[in-house]
This record gives sequence, C-alpha cells and structure tokens, in this order.
Amino acid sequence: MDRQTLLAAIKERMPEKRYIHSIGVMETAIRLAEKYQEDPKRAEIAGILHDIAKYADVEWMKKVVIEQQMDPRLLEWNAEILHGPIGAWIAQTEFHIEDEEILNAIRYHTTGRADMTTFEKIIFVADMIEPNRKFHGVEKLRADADINLDDAFRACITHTLSFLVSSQQAIYPVSIECYNFLMREE
Ligand code: GDP
Ligand code: FE
Ligand code: FE
Ligand code: FE
Repeated sequence: MDRQTLLAAIKERMPEKRYIHSIGVMETAIRLAEKYQEDPKRAEIAGILHDIAKYADVEWMKKVVIEQQMDPRLLEWNAEILHGPIGAWIAQTEFHIEDEEILNAIRYHTTGRADMTTFEKIIFVADMIEPNRKFHGVEKLRADADINLDDAFRACITHTLSFLVSSQQAIYPVSIECYNFLMREE
C-alpha cells in the first residue's frame, strides 16, 4: 500500500496534531531504518499506522480484546495502552498487513516488551523523538538515537517509566517486563 493511501486513511481518524505527529514518526522511522539497516518501506508503513487506534472508542476496543482473545489484562486499561494492540489488529484486518514485525512494532509501540527486535525499537524510538515532540530531555534522546539505537531505546524506556512513577501513574506489566529485560541484559 502506498504512502498517500495510508496517510489519507489515518487523516480522517485523528485530529490534525496527531496526523502531523504520525508524519513525523514516519519520517524519523525511515531515517533510523536507513541508518540501522532495516527496511525503510516497512518503517514507513509502521510509522504511519502506529497511532491509528488512538481515538477509537474504548468500549469497542475492549470488545475486540475479548473477541480476539488478546491479553485479558488489557481490559483494565484505557486508550493509552489499548491503542497499540488494537492498532495492530486494525492494520491486519483493514489494511491487510501480515508482516508480523510491522504488526508487533505497532502492537508494542507504547509499552515496549521484552527482547524487542531492531525494527520494533526503531518505531518505539521514532515515536518518542520525532521533530514535533517537545519535552525536557528530548534533545538528548535525539542525539542518542544518532549514535546507538540500543542505548537510545534504553534511555527512552527509562524516561517513560521515570515519568510514570514521578506522576504516580500505574505501569502496565508489559512495560515492566520490557524494563527488566533491558536491565538484566549485558
Ligand atoms: P503517543 O500515542 O504518540 O502519544 O505515544 P505512546 O503510544 O508511546 O504513549 C501514549 C501514552 O501512554 C503516553 O502518555 C505514555 O506516557 C503512556 N504510557 C506508556 N507506557 C505506559 C504504562 O505502562 N502505563 C501507563 N499508565 N501509561 C503508559
Ligand atoms: Fe501511540
Ligand atoms: Fe511511544
Ligand atoms: Fe505516537
């Protein structure tokens, strides 16, 4: 599926700001894919589609979780956690994407998971550092991403979990699994 078709499809499902963010993720993901020897075309697709479920109806998403027998723990969480797994399901069912690595990159772009592939890390990092992102520390993460993807990914996960703890938010178990995996690695 070509870029313009995918962009047109996401545009009608999200506010302008989210659409601009998605283009930023697409461009950043393509650049990182070229840098770290992954397929830029697949990065383009995952980057465009990663937030496709961000504004989907929460009750509908929970219905899909049950019907598709996804992890039942998802039922205790809101759109911020649901939109990854449901986005992957939409990519598969509506956009006929069968590439499991693209689907996993979308599925885990919010929480991460243990033992991610280079491609999944690219989408995760691109989502955090795309040019429209503005938060304290983003410049450092952008610089890290140009030097070493694994280090940048580790810094992104640490940043997100530190933020969640400091603002006293609950942490999804898969995010913890991701963090623990990274901290036990050599
Ligand atoms: P976005 O969709 O482009 O805004 O970015 P993400 O999909 O990466 O994240 C969506 C939101 O989920 C952000 O506000 C994150 O801080 C939040 N988030 C990420 N991981 C967790 C988690 O484990 N628990 C909770 N409660 N929120 C999380
Ligand atoms: Fe997201
Ligand atoms: Fe993210
Ligand atoms: Fe995003």
